[in-house]
Amino acid sequence: MLRCERNAAVQNNPDTTLVTPDAPIHNVTHGGRAKCLQRLARLDLPVPTTVALSFDAVQRIAKGHLPDIDAILEQFPQDALLCARPSSQDPDWGGPSAILNIGMNDARHEALRDTLGTDAAAAVFTRFVQSYAIHVDRLDPDMFDTITGEGSAALADVLDAYQHEAETPFPITRAEQLAGVLKSMARAWDGTSARLLRQAKGAPVDAGLGLVIQQMAFGVGQGECGSGVLQLVSSKTGMPQITGRYLRQSQGRDALRSGADSVFISRDDRGPSLEDSVPDCFAQLVAHATLMRERLRAEMQVEFTIENGQLHILDGVRVSRSSRAAVRIAVQLARDGIIPRQEALMRVEPNALNELLHRQVDRHAKRDLLGSGIAASPGAATGRLVFSANEAQASAARNEDCILVRRETSPEDIRGMHAAKAVITERGGITSHAAVIGRGIGLPCVVGVGDMRFQTQLGQLQTKDGRIIKAGDIVTVDGTNGSILLGAPETLEAALDDAFQDLMDWADAERDIDIRANADTPADAQTARNFAAQGIGLCRTEHMFFEDGRLTVMREMIFAETSDDRRAVLDRLLPMQRADFIQLFNIMQGKPVCIRLFDPPLHEFLPTDRDGQRDLADALNLPLSDVTRRIESMMEYNPMLGLRGVRLGVTVPEIYEMQARAIFEATIEASRDGDPVVPEIMIPLVSAKREVELVRTNVDAVAAAVATERGAEFTYRLGVMVETPRAALRAGDIAQHCSFLSFGTNDLTQMTYGLSRDDAGRFMSDYVRKEVFVEDPFHTLDIDGVGELLKLGSERGRATRPEVTLSICGEHGGNPESIKFCREAGFDYVSCSPFRVPVARLAAAQLAIAGRIT
Ligand code: PEP
Ligand code: MG
Repeated sequence: MLRCERNAAVQNNPDTTLVTPDAPIHNVTHGGRAKCLQRLARLDLPVPTTVALSFDAVQRIAKGHLPDIDAILEQFPQDALLCARPSSQDPDWGGPSAILNIGMNDARHEALRDTLGTDAAAAVFTRFVQSYAIHVDRLDPDMFDTITGEGSAALADVLDAYQHEAETPFPITRAEQLAGVLKSMARAWDGTSARLLRQAKGAPVDAGLGLVIQQMAFGVGQGECGSGVLQLVSSKTGMPQITGRYLRQSQGRDALRSGADSVFISRDDRGPSLEDSVPDCFAQLVAHATLMRERLRAEMQVEFTIENGQLHILDGVRVSRSSRAAVRIAVQLARDGIIPRQEALMRVEPNALNELLHRQVDRHAKRDLLGSGIAASPGAATGRLVFSANEAQASAARNEDCILVRRETSPEDIRGMHAAKAVITERGGITSHAAVIGRGIGLPCVVGVGDMRFQTQLGQLQTKDGRIIKAGDIVTVDGTNGSILLGAPETLEAALDDAFQDLMDWADAERDIDIRANADTPADAQTARNFAAQGIGLCRTEHMFFEDGRLTVMREMIFAETSDDRRAVLDRLLPMQRADFIQLFNIMQGKPVCIRLFDPPLHEFLPTDRDGQRDLADALNLPLSDVTRRIESMMEYNPMLGLRGVRLGVTVPEIYEMQARAIFEATIEASRDGDPVVPEIMIPLVSAKREVELVRTNVDAVAAAVATERGAEFTYRLGVMVETPRAALRAGDIAQHCSFLSFGTNDLTQMTYGLSRDDAGRFMSDYVRKEVFVEDPFHTLDIDGVGELLKLGSERGRATRPEVTLSICGEHGGNPESIKFCREAGFDYVSCSPFRVPVARLAAAQLAIAGRIT
């Protein structure tokens, strides 16, 4: 009778339940491991008897209320040894260490001596006492350091040491031991460091812990005994490949210990394998793993034990995987009809695609860290250090890979950046020049490297620990996590394979917001096309003026005294700009191209050093003093808030007129052989409606003139970049004069916070650490502040012009959380760096799928 009640206390009891096919076990109440074991039981796999403890039960244990231990023990044979393992809701959240061989005592030791032999039996007991002392009683692991012997002598010493330190003999009954284990595991989960660790991995504050208590399948003993793991795919690539290890006479995950004498799982030229030595078990294992893949709908690593030739499946855990393996695994499961495509899309973290799009430092490679900063553009590259753009170009000419080091980059460095394999800057933040250009061209970049001294004059960097790294030394930049490493650690190539392509196609079929790319050059536009961007959302035209042969003309234009002189010089730039735009239109093949008129302050184009100024004086045939005086007179205290953007368009209208003409002439040209091109022209840094009226009048006049001269018809769309707070507030007025509003969240963030985007990197990490800002607002859209301006602006714009196209084109555009915000606010598209386009496509698809589920 008592036994029946006891059984009732375990079987189908939601808190302490025997794992059977229909027991009330759920991920959210008992954790992933318990649920997985139940699924294995349903598949009729040889899983040892297991009891699962719910989150509630474990919580009560932590508060001192144990479940009915005897009732639990009655589920197992009287002399069986047990193990206890954690079962958190998400296996990534971790949990306390597993404890094996619960129930070891003198009697069991005695019995094991007959089957295992004296030394092996003593070793099992010794290991249990040590693990109990360390994990359950939390005694100092050093207490066993002086015990050097083996076998029975070592066991006696270990038991003595335990008694001495714990001031009590080692518990002998299975019930006592199990109670101790359960209490310690429950409390460990509540400890501060465990809590912080799992929260860092995304666990909620109140994440629960379940426990499973399982009968030990003994991997040590007579006949074929051992333990190991097997999986059907490579963790690195996700491609089919049976991998794992097996270790004779071992328990738990011993086979994976480095230095263990384990053998390969499948036949291998490099050494013996389980497939060769125990073919039956190997075949069963493969069959079980295949079944698990199909029915658990995931690639699983199977943890198994062989006991006297008999196979037991102890556990199944999701195969650990690199990002590229995650994509391949999800796509292959969908291709095989095991999961729907939507689920495959939901299983890949959008930002993880970055790892596929760029070469990466191998996760397992040895890293000699020299310094770190803001991870401004992902990917890894190795090369010799150079300290100027010219040296970078010289290296490229010699076919030598180089890493460009600058205090900060300016437009003059662009050619050097193109020549380098990666860029490091001392200053700057996530939207500084180096970062924006780096992301645009897929160049790994670390900015704001505050923990190294940049001695650029000496051509060297000094690390925190005093090491000097000189020009010519080989370093590796890891732009994915913001580190600078000495030498050339192993890297993994980018992997834009068929699995990636399929995933992207499936994403496009789901998403409901458009994705464009920010692209300034034909090469950027080609990358954007390759990643299936639906158009160009921002072409920053000023970058085109730094090309060979154009900078000097640009400088002549800046030095022109009269409007006519200026026009004359601009006439020389016109064909170059026209050619740029024709190329962009042709590459984009009818997809929209949004061209932003000239934005930066003019003096960014002028030389800053004496040599450059002398060259300019020579080129312009002016006295050096005239040149320096002119440059000085153009300097501004706050150039980012000075004469730039539309303010130049209003005060020096010839530049915008030339650009408008180049755009319209290119439109006519590019429309000749294909569908008519409808260019989009965007005015930067607007803060007042009148600015738009003035520019619109001029641009309309140029359009009319070009149409008459060429006898051609075309249309165009004029839009405004909303990047000053006032433009957002007055979006209602402004929208009446334009067809689209594109939010430039880089400047909008800068101006909303009153925080320089080029200098914020210096203290941003302090600000985030002290929780002044939750995140760097130049990196993660500040939904509360800047987001409110976006909402206000879009609502006011739509109120006066319901058909106005709304978009975002700041660096935030490719982030999943900004896409969520823009989608909810009814934006038409987001535009981001070309290499972010795939991330944005996947994030948008996930949002659409999630929206349909809820
Ligand atoms: C912006 O300000 O958000 C923007 C996209 O323009 P830029 O970064 O060129 O200032
Ligand atoms: Mg801007």
